[in-house]
Amino acid sequence: MNIFEIFVMQMKKKNTILIPGIGAIILLIAVQIFIIKDIWLEKGLMFDLKYKALSQEAMEQFNNLNNADGFENALEAVNQWSGEVMTQDLPKVTNDLDLSQLRIDSYTAVNKLLNELQTLNKMLAGYFDAHGFESDFSFQIVINSLQLIDFDKKVDIYPFPEDYRDNPDITLPETETNGQKIKSRILVKRFLREDNYYILNFDYYIDFSGKQKVVLREMVASISLSSISILVVVIIFMVAFRNLIEERRLSNLKTDFINNMTHELKTPLSTITVAGKTLEMDKIRAEEGKVLETARLIGKQSVHLNQLINLILEISMWERTQFQLDKKTVDIEELMFDIVDSFRTGCNNCAAVTQKYTLDNVKADIDVVYFTTLINNLLSNAVKYSSADPEIEINGSKDKNKIFISIRDNGIGIDKNHQKHIFDKFYRVTTGNIHKTKGLGLGLYYVKRIAEAHGGDVNVTSKPGKGSIFTVTIPY
Ligand code: ADP
Repeated sequence: MNIFEIFVMQMKKKNTILIPGIGAIILLIAVQIFIIKDIWLEKGLMFDLKYKALSQEAMEQFNNLNNADGFENALEAVNQWSGEVMTQDLPKVTNDLDLSQLRIDSYTAVNKLLNELQTLNKMLAGYFDAHGFESDFSFQIVINSLQLIDFDKKVDIYPFPEDYRDNPDITLPETETNGQKIKSRILVKRFLREDNYYILNFDYYIDFSGKQKVVLREMVASISLSSISILVVVIIFMVAFRNLIEERRLSNLKTDFINNMTHELKTPLSTITVAGKTLEMDKIRAEEGKVLETARLIGKQSVHLNQLINLILEISMWERTQFQLDKKTVDIEELMFDIVDSFRTGCNNCAAVTQKYTLDNVKADIDVVYFTTLINNLLSNAVKYSSADPEIEINGSKDKNKIFISIRDNGIGIDKNHQKHIFDKFYRVTTGNIHKTKGLGLGLYYVKRIAEAHGGDVNVTSKPGKGSIFTVTIPY
């Protein structure tokens, strides 16, 4: 199960840690976004102020040095053009429609002259460049108002009268009010000029295409810092969450273990209690055979009880110490035959075992007692977890430096989901009745620990219903 599946599962369970945890992370992200957005706006504003101040500084310098503002030629042309309109075109206007056309033409012509003949943008770009600032900007001229004048006449050209908008005979040019605005432009200066034939009010804006990039560059440190902090918090949360789930799993396994152990302990205890009660009965005591039989039963159960208690003591011993191996150099094939023989005798030939070794009398340094426990655990599992008559096939082989012992059974097999956990302490596959096959979930845990203590390993391949193969690797 991956971490996302665990997340979904825990969310469904309305997990008390997960929901507040995710809530806190979302809050953290929201706060970071809010802060970043604020810094972004502030930096943008600073950028605008800086370039506005720079532009004004530049214009002041042009004014002082050359007595120029970049609009001399343009305004000269506007005056000349306006003069022609006032003296030649205006007298020819006879009706409202002609007047409308005159207004539109005048606005368009003045706009064009201002845009084409101004030299301010070149002057500013040169200034920015010389001082090592961004010089890649576009400019925009916005006419606020325009009047054409003569000494006794005055025509309002722009803004156009309101009713022009609804008049189908008039096609208005694109102006600041109906045209597209440049979003992040900086107002450099508002010009108010008057000459013989015009009164003009217009704004000069600049707009940096690279503004976003510049601001972003300045913000790289804060963006990375907050992304890293979010990432760190998320990672810490995930690790803590994982550990918590693992702790819970272990605690559940421990509870299962205690339940199993209690069950295991209760069986011999209750048998002994019943046997004790039986011995109290006069009828039983009169028959010597029955007394002997009951006494034997009590003895047998006491041995079993003792074994269980030893097992519990052993668990805590395995738990505490890195156990000491008493290694001897032994012929593995011979040892395997011995172990299998005594296993078969011990369980009254409970399984059909076949053995095939290609080990060439290889010798390995192993602790015989622990190795015997390892093989015995695997063999008894092969018998315990079989549904039909157990058939066990043991294979032994080797390569340059390792011995492989595989134990194959025809048992119930193990589902893929459980395979990676079966070597964990106390883990038992919980399908069906857990008490049906007795066990404490420790056999394979011991197998793994013993194999690892020898510098080897154990792994499993299995399919439910088909059987399992456990392969132990031991170096030699
Ligand atoms: P126990 O047998 O006491 O439950 P183990 O650690 O020996 O504990 O095994 C852990 C689990 O692995 C068992 O509960 C069982 O479900 C599964 N298992 C082990 N060996 C086999 C096997 N040969 N075939 C099928 N399942 C097995």
